[in-house]
Amino acid sequence: VRNAGGDRIVSLSKSSHVTLNRNSIIEKRLLLALDQKNLHVLYQPQLDVKTGKFTGVEALVRWDDEEIGVVSPDELIPIAEETGLINNIGSFMLEKACEQAVLWKKAGHNIKVSINSSVREFRDKNMAKSILATLERTGCPASLLQIEITEKFALEAEAETSIIKQMRTLENEGIVFALDDFGTGYGSFRYMQLLPISILKIDQTFIRSLKFEKTQQLVNGMVQLGKSMNLTVVAEGVETEEQKDFLTNIGCDILQGYFISKPSSSNGISSLLV
Ligand code: C2E
Ligand code: CA
Ligand code: CA
Ligand code: CA
Repeated sequence: VRNAGGDRIVSLSKSSHVTLNRNSIIEKRLLLALDQKNLHVLYQPQLDVKTGKFTGVEALVRWDDEEIGVVSPDELIPIAEETGLINNIGSFMLEKACEQAVLWKKAGHNIKVSINSSVREFRDKNMAKSILATLERTGCPASLLQIEITEKFALEAEAETSIIKQMRTLENEGIVFALDDFGTGYGSFRYMQLLPISILKIDQTFIRSLKFEKTQQLVNGMVQLGKSMNLTVVAEGVETEEQKDFLTNIGCDILQGYFISKPSSSNGISSLLV
């Protein structure tokens, strides 16, 4: 295969072509969906083990496009990260989360709303500023916003100082950061040292294999590590009573997962709050 300039370029397999096509269709439809605000948000409750109450929710993006149907976050987010549209999704989710936190607050519930951000979004030097502006515009107190950062991406050296500075700014304003998918990336300990993290979210792959003694020991170690660093420890993907009991016994602070509650609409969450 030759391009217009006559250079030989690598030929793609049929399946790579199909993927490329689908990705570019998703990108086009996503631009439109963002423009028309056709994405929506589900909220998954987080149970405080000590009080037995829901103290927070995680906001999760959902997209059901009229032409291409449902696109799962696992497919959507990597494409959005590659194309830069992740920043637009991030702004959309932030705005929604803040508006919802304010609505719950007005109804008498102090529910912390967590949004997911990729470290990539913090490459934008105006990230902290625009988050604070959204809080102001929506009237959402900083104390009701939490930001989950995944350790999937290595911190790039050039961006590192700016990312840390922005996170510190936000932390000083009262926003809390969680380290998401803890234990799966290669950056965990480095992130814990460098970033202003207050919450550890143990990845669901560990919770899923809690039937194995080795995993139990590992998860127990993670919880104790978190505690020794004065961090709040969250377990995600809690699907069974056995998992809930084990995590409660080893002192995990907050539980999230289908056994506690599935992600649901804001109205669904409101009806759970008493
Ligand atoms: P995550 O942040 O680790 O979110 C938890 C995922 O596990 C969610 O999948 C949730 O629906 C699912 N989940 C919750 N409880 C259980 C359970 O008990 N069992 C099982 N098997 N799954 C459970 P979802 O919504 O499909 O999101 C997948 C990933 O996509 C998220 O993983 C997150 O990394 C990313 N994501 C979702 N929404 C956003 C967003 O608004 N922005 C960004 N940057 N990423 C997002
Ligand atoms: Ca998350
Ligand atoms: Ca996670
Ligand atoms: Ca995950």
